[in-house]
Amino acid sequence: MSCFGMNKDPDRINERKRMVEEQIKVRGVSDERVIKAMLEVPRHRFVAPSQQVFAYEDQPLPIGYGQTISQPYIVAFMIEALETSPSDRVLEIGTGSGYAAAVLSRVAAEVYSIETVAPLAEGAKKTIEDLGYTNVSLRTGDGTKGWPEAAPFDAILISAGAPVVPESLVGQLTPGGRLVIPVGDRIDQRLLRITRSVNGELQEDELAIVRFVPLIGAEGW
Ligand code: SAH
Repeated sequence: MSCFGMNKDPDRINERKRMVEEQIKVRGVSDERVIKAMLEVPRHRFVAPSQQVFAYEDQPLPIGYGQTISQPYIVAFMIEALETSPSDRVLEIGTGSGYAAAVLSRVAAEVYSIETVAPLAEGAKKTIEDLGYTNVSLRTGDGTKGWPEAAPFDAILISAGAPVVPESLVGQLTPGGRLVIPVGDRIDQRLLRITRSVNGELQEDELAIVRFVPLIGAEGW
């Protein structure tokens, strides 16, 4: 953001270019569709006025209600790990600000996202509507049971830290579907990718160590 005189970059595209170069590509995210989505989605629209100057910093930011919008790199890394194709239907648990759902909506056909904190869900809905992203469906409630009426999903992203992998969510994956989830204690988690093979077998890969706010619910904390 320019500090003096007229703002020459109201959409903050130059800050997003820097974010992608200095935080995301250098750490190994290379999927062109994910990079394009990270350049396109205006992250600053998902954060409060008091956080505007930090919107493109290499860190999570508070969004109220004790919750956070994840660090840009983590969002890009998790979405790359989901290996989405343009025709995919995706479920996200933990809408928060709506930022990750918005990025997902650029790399998939349809996004469904669930948030427990009603005011956050409402804020996310408004931001996503204002941006004109029409392929996102939002719902308020406990996401650990998934979204059975819209299942199955080609990809599922859990944006909060879970004690175990919720069985209901694994059950809502298509054959060949991928689920990315932080699993661990309330402080640190292992970021896991669960892949359901076409014959139904589950494969688990550990991708990173991460730090997320807790997943609270029937199959969470
Ligand atoms: N993806 C978000 C980051 C959200 S942080 C973003 O881009 O801004 C995790 C969110 O998960 C919090 O908003 C929290 O309220 C929510 N959450 C926690 N447990 C949940 C549950 N069982 N179902 C749905 N959302 C949950």
